[in-house]
Formats: sequence, C-alpha cells, structure tokens
Amino acid sequence: MQTMKFRAAIAAVALAALAAVPAAHAKGADAPVTEAELAAHIKVLAGDAFEGRAPGTDGEDRTIAYIVGEWAKAGLEAVPGSTTPWLQPVPFVESKAVSGTARFKVHGRDFAIEDDGIILTGRETSAALANVPGVFVGYGVDGAGKVNADVTGKLAIMLFDNAPFGDKLPRYRERRQMLADAGAAAVLVIATDAVPWAQLRDSAGSAAVRLASAKPGAPVSGFLSLEAADALLKKAGQDGAAVREAAKSPDYKGIALPVTADLATQSAIRPFASNNVIAKLPGAKPDGKAVLFLGHWDHLGICGKDGDADRICNGAVDNASGIAVLIEVAKRLASGPRPDRDIYFLATTAEEKGLLGAHYFADHPVVPLTDITVALNVDTIAISPRGTPVATIGRGKPAYDAVVRQAATKFGRKLDEDGEADAFIQRQDGWALGAKGVTSLMVGGSFSDMPLLQAFLGGDYHEAADNFSDKIPLGGAAEDADLHVALGRAFADVKAWSGK
Ligand SMILES: [Zn+2]
Repeated sequence: MQTMKFRAAIAAVALAALAAVPAAHAKGADAPVTEAELAAHIKVLAGDAFEGRAPGTDGEDRTIAYIVGEWAKAGLEAVPGSTTPWLQPVPFVESKAVSGTARFKVHGRDFAIEDDGIILTGRETSAALANVPGVFVGYGVDGAGKVNADVTGKLAIMLFDNAPFGDKLPRYRERRQMLADAGAAAVLVIATDAVPWAQLRDSAGSAAVRLASAKPGAPVSGFLSLEAADALLKKAGQDGAAVREAAKSPDYKGIALPVTADLATQSAIRPFASNNVIAKLPGAKPDGKAVLFLGHWDHLGICGKDGDADRICNGAVDNASGIAVLIEVAKRLASGPRPDRDIYFLATTAEEKGLLGAHYFADHPVVPLTDITVALNVDTIAISPRGTPVATIGRGKPAYDAVVRQAATKFGRKLDEDGEADAFIQRQDGWALGAKGVTSLMVGGSFSDMPLLQAFLGGDYHEAADNFSDKIPLGGAAEDADLHVALGRAFADVKAWSGK
C-alpha cells in the first residue's frame, strides 16, 4: 500500500521535525507527563480522519506520519542501516471467505448440519475436499504438548478452550496450526461458551490476516457451534459432553468418527504491506545492551456495518493511549540527561490480528534479541485514575521486580502483586518477545484494578464506542507514563542495572 511517495513523505516529516528538537531539559527531574499532553495525542490518533488505524489503509499512513513526526521532534533517530528509515515493512496476506459448503455423511448416510452451525474458510482461492474422514481430537495435543492423534489427510475436530492440563500448552490458533503441520486436510474448532457464537461468526466472516511468512494453515479450517458439534457427535454414536470430559486427560488420543465430509470453499486472497515503526535514542555510554519500549499503533479500522451511526472503531484507549504514552516517554528520555544504554521505541502493526507485527519484529529484530535487557509494552493504559497500584504482567524475576518496585515507590505508588494481571500475558505484544526469551513486562495501573478493566473489556472495548472523550481516565495513564520514564532510565543505567 505504501508508495515511494509515502516513504519520501515520511522522510520529510522526520526532517522537518529535526529542526524543532527541543533544548535539553533543565538539570534534574523529568517534567511530569500531563493528562493534557496525552489527550492531545489520543485525540489525533483516535480521530475519524485516522479511520480506526487499520493496517494497510490510509489511516495507517496518517498514523505512521504522526508517530514518526512526534518521535523525530522528541529527538529520536531512525535506526541506522535500515533500508526504510523509521519503518520496518511487514508483508501480510489477507483472506476473506467468499463461500463455503460442507456435506457430512455419518455411517455413509447424509447428515445435515444447519447452515448457521458451521463457519468455513479456505487457505487458497478455492478448495474442494471430498470424503475426508473425521476424527475428534479433544484439544489436539497431549500433556507433553504434542499432536495426540493421526490426522494426516483427515478432518480434525478440536476444542477451542485452553487444555486443562500441562503448564504452557498452546492456545487454539497454535494447536490448529500444529494439526495443519501434522497433515490435517481440515480443522474445525468446536466453539466454546467463552466466546459467543455470533461473535465468532462475525470475526471469522471478516477478513483474516496472517504474516506472509507464516506457515500455511490446513487447506480448510473453520468452526462448529457447540450445538452442531454435539448433533454430529450424537449421530456418530458419541455424547458431546462425555467426549469433552474424556479429552481432559493428558493422555487422550482422540476418536476416529464414522464421519466423512465434503468441504468446499471460495476465498478472496490479497497480499498487502504494513509497517512497524522503529526509532532509537542512542545511549550516552552504550554497553551493548538495550531497552525496548513498544506498543501497538493499529486498531480495528472500519468495524461497523453500513447504516450504523458510527462505523469507525477508533481505538482511543486501545491503543492510542499507549502510543500517546510512548511519545511523551520518548520526549522526556531524549530531553533530560541522556541514558547510558540505547533505547529503542517500537510501534507495532497488526497486534489486533494476533500480535503479528510484534512476532515479525521478534523474527527480524533490528537489534539482537539477546541484547534487549527488557521490553516494556504499553497497551490500553487509560483505564484507571491516579493512585491506582502498579501491577506487572510478566512479574517473577526478582531482579526485574526490584527495579519496578523501586521506581514505583519513588512515585509513592503501591504495588499490586496478587498475580491477577498474568491472565493477560498472552494477549499483549510482549508475549511475542517473551516467547523468544526476552524479558517482557507490562507495568502500570490498568491491569491492577480488575473491576475497572473488566468494565472496559465488557463495554467499549473493540467497539465503535472506544472513542476519544473527556470521560477517558488519563490520570493513571499520566502516572504510568512517569513510571515508564523512570523505568527507562533505571534499565538503561549501566552502573545500577547489570543488564542481565
Ligand atoms: Zn485490541
């Protein structure tokens, strides 16, 4: 999507900003980040002109120009040697189901599943599978995290929920991919009460986006509603509730069903490009270690249907608020005493599609991952008022926890160490880096006050209502921004932090 003209425009934005680099801040403490500063950024980023910041759209171009402009103004630099200064192009493939049909036979006799009970998507423009034998695989993995059944050339029918055994067992997307890698011709995921069927159908019906470099999924994949799955299992002589219960054993091996399926799909496949934004604050005494700040710039774009009063999911809290914080943190760190270590700032794309920009960065880092002493992710930070205790997603390494505690205490803030925040560890960009061994923390008040967070997640979250307004609490975000300035300084301090 981005043309050469766009790249030239980005360079111009950065150059113009250079002329306006602020003079070094007076000696001493960093000026506190204010609600007004954050509000000004959020208002722009979550404005209708940015069209909800969907990857690969004009909204992306505007978002990137704004972030690059602000970071350049702050005094950050493009990463030297990058082919596209400020940007890391990330290639994607979008696929959208056009049509799908499924015909099942049980014991050789036709069995109809109601249209509403199945969702199909294809990997290629068209797929047609005939007479594929069905196997119920439970969670698809055993207690050791390995594929638990022979699925080669078969239709694997798998449960959505996380397996109730094992320590770090993969989520359904990863398990679905493992079944595809094991040779499944098709994978159908049985829906769960946790995600309403209508919501699943909406999200499966809209375009799916994957990294162009991602391993291909099964030729056909999709979902079965709980009712449809139970009806199919019943016809095949199995009780749905009983097989789900049996599947909870880490030794479960699945059951071959007397079921065959003819599956056909038509899909629209479209490659497109998006970008991570990457900037650097060169350290005063670099020792080979680096601090990485990150947050996702993308959101859901035009999410409403024709006729809706508001069709744009503006993503004010999720995550214009996090980008606003990263802009102000960059300004403080660049204008105050220069930190020892290099500090990188990364605004990721396609977090909303499954942390894809962060995964791409983790696969193509501009600084060796082993050099990153800590990654600090900032996401959905405008939830809580001033005075909210500090929770840390990714807690548990005593030396790191001590740095966070010291910084929080300096601001008179209490720590929330009840561990509730950990429930979100897989739902944020830091997970992509953590999976590759980088210590990744998400620190702040937003994930401390669970009733407030749940009120957001059950309300405006991922809806057109996540707009900028005076009602968004920015006091906690401003305090968290100050905390991140302090954390940046602490982790970049060669004497005080060994960089382990
Ligand atoms: Zn989101």
